[in-house]
Amino acid sequence: MRDEDQGRAEEQQAWQTRREQIAANLAAVREDIATAARKAGRDPSDVTLIAVTKTYPASDVRVLAGLGVLDVGENRDQEAAPKAHATAGLGLRWHFIGQLQSNKASSVAGYADFVHSVDRARLIPALAKGAARYDKELTCLVQVDLGNAERMDDDSARGGAFPDRVPELADAIAAAPGLRLGGLMAVAPLGAEPGPAFERLYALAMRLRTAHPSATMISAGMSGDLGEAVAAGATHVRVGSAILGIRR
Ligand SMILES: *Cc1c(COP(=O)(O)O)cnc(C)c1O
Repeated sequence: MRDEDQGRAEEQQAWQTRREQIAANLAAVREDIATAARKAGRDPSDVTLIAVTKTYPASDVRVLAGLGVLDVGENRDQEAAPKAHATAGLGLRWHFIGQLQSNKASSVAGYADFVHSVDRARLIPALAKGAARYDKELTCLVQVDLGNAERMDDDSARGGAFPDRVPELADAIAAAPGLRLGGLMAVAPLGAEPGPAFERLYALAMRLRTAHPSATMISAGMSGDLGEAVAAGATHVRVGSAILGIRR
């Protein structure tokens, strides 16, 4: 009995410590976003924070939800699907931000509300089929290659369509039943200044908006470059390690 009580107390303590850690990191990230937004003459509330929870457990997703973060991002279906299942009912919006295979599109459509990484025409009918299967509307962003084909992390290539392919992919998404065109997404090129790359993304997004006025999302910026992204007009930043810690 004693041991059991003590075990429970320790668990409670660990949860409390983790919650405080995440809350402190989150406050700092929100402050950075607000500072960058104000400096750029933007309203901080125009920037949506997506917490990237890859490699971290569902319990952290629950902590984030308790702290008011309802937009969460994942980059691998195998990891995201069970995590979304384990946290169902919290009112979360799941953003799929990783390289996507057509054979995973249907699974992703089961839990995701946003897919940021559409960079090939072949994915579009696969996502539309998934949206129909779950009777939902899926918001899709075209991922743009801002000038590198390098790899990030271990297993996730950066991906993205070349800028000249954006219009045809955007048109195909907008025309697909069950899909809504959200806008554009990009990862800053490795080994280059992120600012100019994000400005190129912004210019592409403005051009896209003339053909698709409701495609207003610009998903750019991660822990290391969110200030540059917000300065260049990002509407959504995808932040993992600055909130949850360095991934191992
Ligand atoms: C992991 C990841 C992020 C978050 O990266 P951090 O550096 O941990 O903030 C953002 N976007 C994509 C596409 C990712 O894979």
